Amino acid sequence: MSEVINVEELFASKVFTRATMRERLPKNVYKEVIKVMEKGGELSLAAADVVAKEMKDWAVENGATHYTHWFQPLTGITAEKHDSFVSHPDESGKMLMEFSGKELIKGEPDASSFPSGGLRATFEARGYTAWDITSPAFLKEDATGVILCIPTAFCSYKGEALDKKTPLLRSMEAISQQALRIVKLFGNTEAKKVVASVGPEQEYFLVDREKYLKRPDLIFAGRTLFGAPAPKGQELEDHYFGTIRERVGAYMKDLNIELWKLGVTAKTQHNEVAPAQHELAPIYETANIAVDHNQLVMETMKKVAGRHGLTCLLHEKPFAGVNGSGKHNNWSLATDNGVNLLDPGDTPNENIQFLLVLACIIKAVDRHADLLRQSASDVGNDHRLGANEAPPAIISVFLGEQLEDVVKQLVETGEAAHVLQGGKLETGVSTLPDFTKDATDRNRTSPFAFTGNKFEFRMVGSADSIGSPNTILNAIVAEAFCEAADVLEKAEDFDLAVHDLIKEYFTRHQRIIFNGDGYSDAWVAEAERRGLPNIKSMIEAVDTLTTEKSVKLFDKFGIFTKAELESREEVLYETYAKTINIEALTMIDMASKQIIPAVIKYTKSLADTVIAVKGAGADASAQADLLKQVTEKLNGMKTALAKLEEVTAKASSMSQAKEQAFYYKDVVKEVMEELRTPADEAEMLVDKKVWPIPTYGDLIFEV
Ligand code: ADP
Ligand code: MG
Repeated sequence: MSEVINVEELFASKVFTRATMRERLPKNVYKEVIKVMEKGGELSLAAADVVAKEMKDWAVENGATHYTHWFQPLTGITAEKHDSFVSHPDESGKMLMEFSGKELIKGEPDASSFPSGGLRATFEARGYTAWDITSPAFLKEDATGVILCIPTAFCSYKGEALDKKTPLLRSMEAISQQALRIVKLFGNTEAKKVVASVGPEQEYFLVDREKYLKRPDLIFAGRTLFGAPAPKGQELEDHYFGTIRERVGAYMKDLNIELWKLGVTAKTQHNEVAPAQHELAPIYETANIAVDHNQLVMETMKKVAGRHGLTCLLHEKPFAGVNGSGKHNNWSLATDNGVNLLDPGDTPNENIQFLLVLACIIKAVDRHADLLRQSASDVGNDHRLGANEAPPAIISVFLGEQLEDVVKQLVETGEAAHVLQGGKLETGVSTLPDFTKDATDRNRTSPFAFTGNKFEFRMVGSADSIGSPNTILNAIVAEAFCEAADVLEKAEDFDLAVHDLIKEYFTRHQRIIFNGDGYSDAWVAEAERRGLPNIKSMIEAVDTLTTEKSVKLFDKFGIFTKAELESREEVLYETYAKTINIEALTMIDMASKQIIPAVIKYTKSLADTVIAVKGAGADASAQADLLKQVTEKLNGMKTALAKLEEVTAKASSMSQAKEQAFYYKDVVKEVMEELRTPADEAEMLVDKKVWPIPTYGDLIFEV
């Protein structure tokens, strides 16, 4: 008999939920909290004091000794500084655990070491963390003890955003306001807000920890920088949805339990395409909570792996030639009275609203394809997007056969008079078909696909925060809604105006719709003909943030100021340069201290063998030939190593961030490849017993 896991009881047991608040807070305070959560505004200090005390008592009852303002700086991961609840003892020496409303609402970490892109001059090292009341506080438990974590936004002294959370919250505000204008036009006057919902599917790799510790590249760079392909790859397609091995299964079980306790709705788990690759998907939730929870998922994945003698790799491309990892960001919009704006609905009125929303999204994605592409880029994702892997770097929208046909008819005739695969449709009279049912026929190659009642943005990297992609999605669609509402609110004949607008948007922006194979060369050429951007790397996407249209967009909705955008550009260039620098230095280290010495030793033993065999009067040509081949690779490595040392030194001495980043991409990365190639070729020739690091086969087939 296996132990019974009471999931209902476990779920959110480490979260200061609404139910816990209702139970513990005085009614008037609880009401005030809910009001601020739902309508915005600020909590009074008196109420904050009460909440803080109850939160602290609850945390202490559950073993907590410290609290932290948990925030998401531009590193892409989370940061925390712990403060204990310990207060000044009284004269008798007795001490009471304390936590005030002030401490709950605002923190002041010395934040000079977080990337700010020049926004926070060092003389003004202070940054502020401000409580995000809409994301529940939770308890984190590890060797440090139990820590009360308060989700916060992180700003500079002057209020400039220094994190991924602040702009996201601003964008949620924007999309809510603009979407409300749209639903009002269609008669929904009860809705008070529109919420962006997000469900991210998280991919990851698991490797044996002992082997991981023998690979400096995995330790320092999170990915392998050397490694010949294993004899077997994913060609048999036997891993995807395959039976989960015992060791991995035990890991997944533990992971689920930890996540459930944190209130994360871990729902789906399965093996992914590559050997040793897996996926976890939670149930979708409000965007900012989904962003927080995805950080917790990533963190918990790593933590739990340790307990099972495993290491979790979240890098987008841990192994060359093996499928990489991403994060499908499922996104939709729903009113607080339960209407999903991306659901075609059951009545003609809902159909028209759906088509308008769809037209607005198509317009937004076409106009800001470059921004969306940027939002999904990080250093690791360069090995996927635009390299020879899914999804392509060109943004296009997949609608599915039926819906694409509806759009085509609307563009051509202004009416969608019929629907493919049966069913009669007259917009304004009848209803649209159920696209959810049609969603089975999905195009996996599309970076932005409509899947029944949501869009699935498939470009996001596995290690990256989903903060930026959702900020951009919300912002660009808010702008399109705003422009549509500006027209429609003034229209004399609403029905006619909305009809014309839908037709206009689809007509103007249909170039972004593509239902074919996104991986083909033909599409690259076709996309170019259509004038769609094809941005090949992270740093080539950076300056999309400060184009005139971007600055205008972000300024209009108060999501980013120009200074904030410029600072982010700076941080992105710096991050890129630093990451490639670490990779290059790691390669230099591994090549000079591990791989080259091992190969030299092997050539010595081969040379000895040749002499011995010859001395014995036998034919040593095979051994001599192997020696010649291995020596060639060795020389190749030596030459490339010297070159890599030279260009890396030059790169790190450069002072201008953008120029430096491009030098790392165009020069250093190329030389890294020059070093890797002979090393990987040598690996294929050299006796496995003398190879100094675990091979691809060891890493991905022996978990
Ligand atoms: P697949 O692998 O087929 O794409 P999954 O079931 O693994 O699908 O993941 C789908 C994700 O989309 C889940 O996180 C799910 O909660 C989320 N999702 C479903 N409906 C919506 C919606 N309306 N808005 C946002 N996300 C959604
Ligand atoms: Mg998916």
